[in-house]
Amino acid sequence: MQQTERTRIRNHPERAVPEKAAEILAQGVVAHVGFVQDGMPYVIPLSYHYDADAPALLYLHGSIRSRVMKLLASGAPVCVTVTLTDGLVYSRKAMNHSMNYRSVALFGNAREVTDEDEKFRLFDAMVRRYFPGRAVGHDYNAPPPADLGVTALLEVAIEEWNAKRRVGAPTGPDDDDPHALGTAGVTELREV
Ligand SMILES: Cc1cc2nc3c(=O)[nH]c(=O)nc-3n(C[C@H](O)[C@H](O)[C@H](O)COP(=O)(O)OP(=O)(O)OC[C@H]3O[C@@H](n4cnc5c(N)ncnc54)[C@H](O)[C@@H]3O)c2cc1C
Repeated sequence: MQQTERTRIRNHPERAVPEKAAEILAQGVVAHVGFVQDGMPYVIPLSYHYDADAPALLYLHGSIRSRVMKLLASGAPVCVTVTLTDGLVYSRKAMNHSMNYRSVALFGNAREVTDEDEKFRLFDAMVRRYFPGRAVGHDYNAPPPADLGVTALLEVAIEEWNAKRRVGAPTGPDDDDPHALGTAGVTELREV
């Protein structure tokens, strides 16, 4: 997937990990979905589906009455960010408090998926991504056509992305000195 001037990471470019973007999207839980309506920017949290085997596609869903679904289905450009918070970094220096994270920001355009079989297959895959091992017909009932009909499913074709990652200890000037005033370290939030 390409990076252009729009996705070039300027601050800490050494933290750019575009090759990790698919892995981060596959692990993420919440997508923050940004769009512009009538000149006003909005960012709305949504669940999403992503399969690293089809890396250029990301799926969003919601009520057919939803503002964000209608706007994106009309072809409005969309920006999606997904963040994994891996740790809280504390330093002896105020400015060096930080976070360990992996995040992706991507740009694309959506189309509505209307084919009932395709919707069924993608919703099933989405359930299995969030709930590994959960099977339709065993753990939950297949959605009736009426439910599929009132639920919009959008396929975002990803035009470009970048990913950024911070790892490791705090980097304050005294953080390696156990005799200096204060404390320094990382509160791990997840195993990386
Ligand atoms: C973790 C998470 C996952 C979600 N997953 C989905 C999903 O997969 N599909 C789905 O349709 N909805 C989901 N929602 C709800 C979603 O955030 C929106 O509320 C919903 O999609 C309606 O969006 P809209 O732009 O059409 O709402 P509107 O009602 O048109 O939004 C109007 C205004 O209400 C405010 N608003 C709307 N939603 C929120 C919010 N969540 N928090 C705070 N203020 C808000 C904003 O100011 C917004 O501009 C999720 C919410 C969370 C927190």
